[in-house]
Amino acid sequence: MKIIMLGAPGAGKGTQAKKIADAYHIPHISTGDIFRANLKEGTELGLKAKEYMDRGELVPDELTCDLVMDRIQKDDAKEGFVLDGFPRTIPQAEALTEALKKIGQVMDIAINVDVPDENIIERMGGRRACVGCGATYHIVTVPPKTEGKCDRCGADLILRDDDKPETVKKRLEVYHAQTQPLIDYYEKQGILKTVDGTKAPADVEADIFGLLKA
Ligand code: AMP
Repeated sequence: MKIIMLGAPGAGKGTQAKKIADAYHIPHISTGDIFRANLKEGTELGLKAKEYMDRGELVPDELTCDLVMDRIQKDDAKEGFVLDGFPRTIPQAEALTEALKKIGQVMDIAINVDVPDENIIERMGGRRACVGCGATYHIVTVPPKTEGKCDRCGADLILRDDDKPETVKKRLEVYHAQTQPLIDYYEKQGILKTVDGTKAPADVEADIFGLLKA
């Protein structure tokens, strides 16, 4: 099963993508995670990506597309994959369609996790990320056992630069301008499904699994 998760930043698509990946034994491919891992390792790609990420802008397509195309052709992605945070622009979506066409494949489903901007702004201000292992929390909905410390590794929890209010506002603008058109793109391909992302995570999960099994 080849799945795309669509939705605004903070809509909860990452959480749901992980659940799908576990259930279907397919890799969860998050471009945001790939950029953050590169940054942590101090690679050239990571340092270049950081400039854009910190400003709430998109990393240019030429830095993004090839890395995803390479990743989806790895052995562990033969039975399918869940894309989370990619594609984010029409050119990225077209590059994906073309790359798959060359190997005689198509995406199976694009799941749009729909959440209004007001809810996104509220959610992201409460997000905390571990500086050690990258685990994410929310001060209200997924609090750590000890305030400010990661349950998994004990390192400090911080508000990521790209989750700060001014950056979130910018990321939402970028989302509406560049990523939202993908909803139409996949609607036209006949593979778009939308779920209400304002529900509790377990209910969103149940809705998504209902669609995948349909
Ligand atoms: P995410 O963790 O998916 O919210 O991504 C964090 C940041 O990484 C985004 O705000 C972008 O700056 C960058 N990024 C992630 N995926 C992409 C993509 N497909 N295209 C361009 N930039 C991306």
